[in-house]
Amino acid sequence: MKTIYLDNNATTAVAPEVTAALAPFLADQYFNPSSAYDQARQVSAALQTARHELAVLLGGVTPDQLTFTSGATESNNWAIGGVVRAQPQRRHIVTTAVEHPAVFEVCKELARQGCDVTFLPVDRSGQLDRDAYVRALRPDTLLVTIMLANNETGVLFPVAELARIAHETNPAIIFHTDATQAIGKLPLDLTGEFEHVDLLSLSGHKIHAPKGVGALYAKRGTPLRPLIIGGHQENGRRAGTENVPFIVALGRAARLAADHLAGVDQIRQLRDRLEDAVVRTIPYLEVNGHGAPRLPNTLNLSCHYIEGESILYQLNEHGICASSGSACTSGSLEPSHVLKAMHVPFTAMHGSVRFSLSRYTTAAEVDRVIEVFPEVVASLRRISPYWDAARNAPRPTAPQESPAQPTNH
Ligand code: PMP
Repeated sequence: MKTIYLDNNATTAVAPEVTAALAPFLADQYFNPSSAYDQARQVSAALQTARHELAVLLGGVTPDQLTFTSGATESNNWAIGGVVRAQPQRRHIVTTAVEHPAVFEVCKELARQGCDVTFLPVDRSGQLDRDAYVRALRPDTLLVTIMLANNETGVLFPVAELARIAHETNPAIIFHTDATQAIGKLPLDLTGEFEHVDLLSLSGHKIHAPKGVGALYAKRGTPLRPLIIGGHQENGRRAGTENVPFIVALGRAARLAADHLAGVDQIRQLRDRLEDAVVRTIPYLEVNGHGAPRLPNTLNLSCHYIEGESILYQLNEHGICASSGSACTSGSLEPSHVLKAMHVPFTAMHGSVRFSLSRYTTAAEVDRVIEVFPEVVASLRRISPYWDAARNAPRPTAPQESPAQPTNH
């Protein structure tokens, strides 16, 4: 059975061009880029090419503001911890209740260590309240860390504007964004619209590079202590011999992502086709993040009265790979903190499924899901005790049918 891979927010397939680009650096181009002979200088030049390719994807920032890391988890830990360590006297941090654990857990840990952290709530569609954000900014605020696109729902936060507001309110505030899910799906210009962003995290394996490589953009002059201390690599900002093959891969993946940005609309059309079809055919279904600006590739659904894990299991029987909650937290019975923060009703929170598409997703694959998914949901409901009981209860109206009822988005 052919695999239909719709879990691209968890990870993506490595692009063949990327594999081809990295291969020589696993073979004869093995030299340490810090060594002082021609062969090593060529490897060092490949690192600089990769840095340049990534800089282009981010709107033409100067490449020296980019540091390669092991992925977005490291970039986030570094950005947040490095800012706090650089100015230990300022203790207030603003973040949201729906960040990825690589930000959320770091902020919780800093709160345990004595920082004052404001976790901004979101509404039923996953959006922030701008006024609450403005009210949260204080004279002693050190850092704002707010993601660009939510990994579970795809909901976008207006980060360009939030960063501008932060700097206008208090120029000493440092603004960090976890852009891991937005990279390659949206144009991101750090020299234009997003110029007020000081720190930005990203990861290779969400843009068709391998797992275990990422980067942190740090605007020149941003006070930031290193996370990993040792040798002089990466201008003393991140010690350790560079992961050359994967950095080369990230550079090539960034170049491909820039080339494919114009094609993102095709991904959006396929996602919309899937969304329209399931909303039309499946009762008691909610689109999480409906009504909010969203990533073009993500569809997060809640199926009332059934269980996400069972849905995934059945989809898997048909060769379809999707996700329930985020991959990092699945395996736990705790419902997603993102859906909880959005006040998704209990009967729907446990029945969530995320489909996430990529440029490799085909119309035939989407059509197969449109054929299979309603039957999977119906078959699970036939054996759900809640389903029987629910049919005698008042029907929770889906937002598509009644936009006037905001509690049922
Ligand atoms: N932030 C977001 C929004 C993510 O989606 C992910 C990956 N699930 C990460 C951070 C962590 O990235 P990595 O796997 O590269 O550490």
